[in-house]
Formats: sequence, C-alpha cells, structure tokens
Amino acid sequence: MPERVLICGAGVAGSIVAFYLGKADFQVTVVERSKAEQKAGQGIEIEEPALSVVRHMGVLDTLESVKTGEEGAEFVDQRSRSYGIFKAGGISPTGELELMRGDLTEVLYKAADAHLNVTYLFETTIQSLRQTQDKVIVDLAHRPTRSVKTEEFDLVVGADGVKSRTRQLAMGSPEELNCFKAVGAYTAYFSIPKQDQDWPYSRLCHFPGRKVVWMRPVSKASDVTSVYLIHVGKNVPALSRANAVGDRMKQKEALAELYSGLGWEVPRVIEEMLKAENFYSDELMQVKLQKWSQDRVVLVGDAAWAPTPFTGEGNQLAIMGAHVLAQEISRYRSSAAFDAYEKRLRAYVEDAQNIPLGGYAPYIFVPQTSLGVWVFRTLIYLGSWIVRFIAWRGMPDGSDQQHKEFDLQIEKDETKKAR
Ligand SMILES: Cc1cc2nc3c(=O)[nH]c(=O)nc-3n(C[C@H](O)[C@H](O)[C@H](O)COP(=O)(O)OP(=O)(O)OC[C@H]3O[C@@H](n4cnc5c(N)ncnc54)[C@H](O)[C@@H]3O)c2cc1C
Repeated sequence: MPERVLICGAGVAGSIVAFYLGKADFQVTVVERSKAEQKAGQGIEIEEPALSVVRHMGVLDTLESVKTGEEGAEFVDQRSRSYGIFKAGGISPTGELELMRGDLTEVLYKAADAHLNVTYLFETTIQSLRQTQDKVIVDLAHRPTRSVKTEEFDLVVGADGVKSRTRQLAMGSPEELNCFKAVGAYTAYFSIPKQDQDWPYSRLCHFPGRKVVWMRPVSKASDVTSVYLIHVGKNVPALSRANAVGDRMKQKEALAELYSGLGWEVPRVIEEMLKAENFYSDELMQVKLQKWSQDRVVLVGDAAWAPTPFTGEGNQLAIMGAHVLAQEISRYRSSAAFDAYEKRLRAYVEDAQNIPLGGYAPYIFVPQTSLGVWVFRTLIYLGSWIVRFIAWRGMPDGSDQQHKEFDLQIEKDETKKAR
C-alpha cells in the first residue's frame, strides 16, 4: 500500500507539497479549514529561486495569465503629488510576477487536485493527533456535519500558517515553544472598490507616526483595488486586543481610529475598509523554532518559519520549502527525510528571516516625524532618478544579482527520471 501523508492547510506550501507527493505516488489527504482553498489575501510576488519551482510544476504560464499587471510603484504625498516612480522589477516594490494570493492558491490547488491520489477535504481540521512508533493517528473534524473521523497516516505535514494547529498538537503551544517573535508592527490587507487613479501603478503614501497606506491594482478588468495598511509601533492596545480574539469589526474600528485625520485618499480607504469582506489584520510575528519536525510530523512555510512581510520572503520561502520537503520525502519515503530537509534549508531560511538594515528597515522606511518623512521622500526622489538614469544608460542595476543562491536540485531529479 502506498504511504499515506496528511497535509494540514491548502495554502501555498500545502498545495505544493501535495502536488509533488501526488506525483511521487503517495496517498495524500489535504485538510483545509476554509470552505475551499484559502483564497483570501492580497498581492504577493514570486521571483527566483521560487520561480523555478512553479516553472517546474508546469503552472508558470497559467500564473502569468493571472498576474495583476501592476506596472510599478508610485510614491505620493498627502496632496497626491508624485515624488518617485519605480517601474516593476529591480529594486521596485513591484515584482515582475505579482499575483493575488487567491489566484496563486487556486492554480496550485488545481494542479495538486489533478492527481487522483490527492484528496482535498474542506471545512476540515485536525482535532487531535497521537504518534506511535510507526504511524500517526489523527482525529479529523468536519465542521458542517460536526463529525469526527479517526485515520492513520505515515507522515503528517503542518502547512497551516503562523498559528499552526499541527505545531500546537505535535510540539506544544507558542508559549511553551517560545516561538513567536513580535517585530513591532501591525498590518491589514483588504479590497475596496476601484477608481480610475488606482490603475496601473500601485501608490504608497507615508504619514508621520510610522504609518503607510499602499494601494495596489488587482488587474485592469477588476472592479476592486487592494489596500495594505502598515503601522510600525508596539503599542496600540485596542488593535492588540481585537487581534488577540480575531474580532474583525473591532480590528477595523481600531484601524479607523489609528488612521483618522490623515490626508490623501485615507478617508476613502477607511470608509471602504469598514465594509470590506476580504479583510485580514494581525500583529506581525516571526516564527522561530529549534526544530521543524517532531518524529513523524513536520512543519513547512509560515508554520515553521514565518518571516513577516518586512523581509519580502514569506511566499518565496513557502514555495521553496514545500519543494525541498516533498523532494526529500520522495527520496527517503520516511521521516528520515525531515532531517535532510532541515539540513538543506535552515541556514537559507535563517538568513532570509533577517529584517534588512540590521532590523531597522521598518523604522527607516516608515518614519516617525514629519522631518523623517521629508528626508525619506527626498531619498526616494533622488533614488527614482538614479534608477531612471541607470535604465536610460542601459547599465546593470544589480537586480539580477539580488536573488540569493539556492540549489533546488531540480536538475538532479530530472536526470534521475531520465535514467
Ligand atoms: C488569509 C490570509 C491572507 C494573507 N494575505 C497575504 C497578503 O495579502 N500578502 C502577503 O504577502 N501575504 C499574505 N498572507 C501570508 C502568505 O500567504 C504567506 O506568508 C505565504 O504564502 C506562506 O504560505 P503558507 O502556505 O505557509 O501559509 P498560509 O498562506 O498562511 O496558509 C495556511 C493555510 O492553512 C489553513 N489553515 C490554518 N489553520 C488550519 C487548521 N487548523 N486546519 C486546516 N487548515 C488550516 C489556512 O486556511 C491556509 O489555507 C496571507 C495569509 C493568509 C492565511
């Protein structure tokens, strides 16, 4: 009988592991607590080396066809005056392959689900988990019917995000593991009705008090625009309380209070945020664990190492990590794979978790005072002209060297198959 693997979470990491294990003839079950693959979220980007994984999966063309088409990022002041434009790619906040998170998870889900030996169970979660010498016994709870089914698996993969239930059940609570490291910032993502000025550039406006509002196009045809609110700060009690209990209305009210009285398009953004359905907000936390596995249970993606958006690596690492994990499971076909996976990836992940500029990047890029915002704008203004000059002269801007090297061993797999 083929080995049975349970994957908890049909996000980015979960569906990539499912795709590759399905391809390697494992019997795969994916449980996802949402009604369908988790489509919530706003824009995320894929660049090398993670791009090689989606290319290898054969989904790059499909992803290209659903990319947002954002042409670049424009920095504006409170009176909508532009002081710097960066075209997509290179050092621009706009990557070359910008996607809506929901489009990415849908494409990955469809690719994995095409394998007959991969089964998705929605509105289902792991209720409890026991490990014996040679298997993992799991109680799977199906929310709509309130039924619980006990099943046995050879291996369990926790791909269930920052607040991973798999991690909690197999290793202990975040407090016991001391694995949450707050970076001192809050964020919220949501969609609002689109207006003409929202296309084709994303627009960022900085405000004193360490606040940013970033509006991003979803696509030319879409009738909505994506919004990110970012606040660098450690103490917003009302927001912390709302985040702790996941109360969306209270989160929105606390954000409305925090952003009240600001200029630019903030009144429009806040008014629409209060009505937004696709809304997500939380305090930014990194996950740092001593070990990513416990016997027959292993973690991947944000569940194992969430790096926060300040690193720009969350999605990259989830894609690469899922590929490496599935590759090692396919090679070893046992939990011995987990040490090999961690050995290959840990140093890369720890390096990627470093917040740029010695951890001060959020404070430098999101200034506290009006003077700080003015200095920041002046630097962006000069920087945008330097980038334009470099592009005009056809000089290399270093962007092709900015991807960190990592050997995904894709070629090795292909050679083995060809033999
Ligand atoms: C709702 C949401 C919106 C996001 N929006 C953005 C965004 O706009 N921009 C950005 O840069 N990053 C966003 N992220 C984070 C980004 O998706 C991740 O950093 C990155 O893609 C790593 O993915 P992952 O697969 O490890 O984890 P995640 O993307 O967090 O996926 C985890 C999956 O596990 C499921 N899950 C969680 N708990 C359980 C459980 N107990 N049982 C079953 N299933 C469970 C979740 O529903 C989800 O499908 C978002 C994440 C989520 C969950």
